[in-house]
Amino acid sequence: MVQEISHWINGRLQAGASGDFGPVYNPATGEQSGKVALANVSEVDAAVANAKEAFATWGNLSPLRRARVMFKFKELLERDKAELAAIITAEHGKVLSDADGEITRGLEVVEFACGIPHLLKGEFTEQVGPGIDSWSNRQPLGVVAGITPFNFPVMVPLWMAPVALATGNCFILKPSEKDPSAALKLAALLKEAGLPDGVFQVVQGGRTAVERLLEHPDIQAISFVGSTPIAETIYRVGSAHGKRVQALGGAKNHMVVMPDADLDQAVDALMGAAYGSAGERCMAISVAVAVGGVGDALMKKLEPRVRALKVGPGTDPTAEMGPLVTKEHFQKVQSYIDLGVAEGAKLLVDGRGLKLQGYEDGFFLGGSLFDHVTPDMRIYKEEIFGPVLAVVRSDSFSDAVDLVNRHEFGNGTAIFTRDGDAAREFGNRIQVGMVGINVPIPVPMAFHSFGGWKRSLFGDHHMHGPEGVRFYTRLKTLTARWPTGIRAGAQFTMPTLG
Ligand code: NAD
Repeated sequence: MVQEISHWINGRLQAGASGDFGPVYNPATGEQSGKVALANVSEVDAAVANAKEAFATWGNLSPLRRARVMFKFKELLERDKAELAAIITAEHGKVLSDADGEITRGLEVVEFACGIPHLLKGEFTEQVGPGIDSWSNRQPLGVVAGITPFNFPVMVPLWMAPVALATGNCFILKPSEKDPSAALKLAALLKEAGLPDGVFQVVQGGRTAVERLLEHPDIQAISFVGSTPIAETIYRVGSAHGKRVQALGGAKNHMVVMPDADLDQAVDALMGAAYGSAGERCMAISVAVAVGGVGDALMKKLEPRVRALKVGPGTDPTAEMGPLVTKEHFQKVQSYIDLGVAEGAKLLVDGRGLKLQGYEDGFFLGGSLFDHVTPDMRIYKEEIFGPVLAVVRSDSFSDAVDLVNRHEFGNGTAIFTRDGDAAREFGNRIQVGMVGINVPIPVPMAFHSFGGWKRSLFGDHHMHGPEGVRFYTRLKTLTARWPTGIRAGAQFTMPTLG
């Protein structure tokens, strides 16, 4: 049965009015499970009008009262975590334990948002001039929008919305049309937590909805996470319409393995970071750089582990990796494996042709491993976003650093070594936004900020943490003097503050 997936407007589910729908699949079975409404311009406009109206009250509420909604939201997310994980797995395909981990990382941002009153306090200077005080504070922007990718249908919306809401904005979420249901569950929980209608809305849709959000005059800021070509367009068009934009794009994250690294630890790290969530993570490691002859020993340990990877439906508790999200994406990743072979890389483990009994039509691809990949190959340069790890051999530490720094993306990277000096030098010289030292996926905690460099982020601000608060607020600085009245009499000279 194909279920209709609707919008969440002004505190309730609302069926699509455009007549356009997009298919939603269960990636484990390959069957279409739903059809999601795709909003037209007037549906987007109606959501923006509701949000604008709701902002008049929400934006003026005391920070503490807004934070209390976040406290309650956190409790409800914990209560319904298993249900939410099941929704993610049903449409995305990732294994349930991974879906649970994604929710935990999102919950941490909600916890951060509970303390936001502290970050809105501003600064105060007494006596900037005789009898004059000056202070600055941060005020919400108004109506803001978030456009999110398929790979984290809960975590990425939660990178944005809790910070935007707790700072006093009204938020419109446009989730990925590939796995749109989790957003509706978030909306229902926010309502149950006491969020007034219109403060958080979900507009389902594709390009038409996004284009309208980008040009709508009542939207003050756009947060985007997705692929680089779209991120770049969002940044250009949104900025041209006078909005604040933070647009996070694609990645090709390298893990540098030094000759002195603990190889068992490095192999464990590579397995989780390259193949977890079927490689559909913006912080996945997709390139391992073996430095100074460590390559052969590394491959000897890595290859059998990739062969033994347990692939299965996300609901199988023994599965380490689920299917890819759609048939098109599955075919795209498979074609990259064909390409790598044609380009002359050595395919040590071939994940193509995997068939799982009972799930023959699912979008399953086994873990794949390429050795002797070179920087001129497209499988090195381009983001594959699947369970495919490319191993590049590098003569020296310096060559490895240069290799990472030459890549167009700069989202995450890691070094595995026992040498503190090499690790420190790596951290200092590397041109990447998030760096791990013996940590393969260095995703910053909620009270720090998440973001890459180079073509992995367009705009000035990273997400959540202090950068998120700055993004969703604007600074106002006030300077005040109270008339001295009868104490001093009138003053006729030009006022100076000194
Ligand atoms: P995508 O770029 O295809 O889609 C992202 C969003 O943009 C979706 O909501 C989609 O509906 C919308 N969109 C797609 N095409 C559009 C168009 N032509 N015009 C307007 N809107 C459009 O990305 P995806 O496939 O959903 O997600 C995977 C990508 O996201 C990967 O490149 C991954 O690296 C990236 N990602 C990056 C981060 C990060 O933090 N840098 C995090 C997660 C995912």
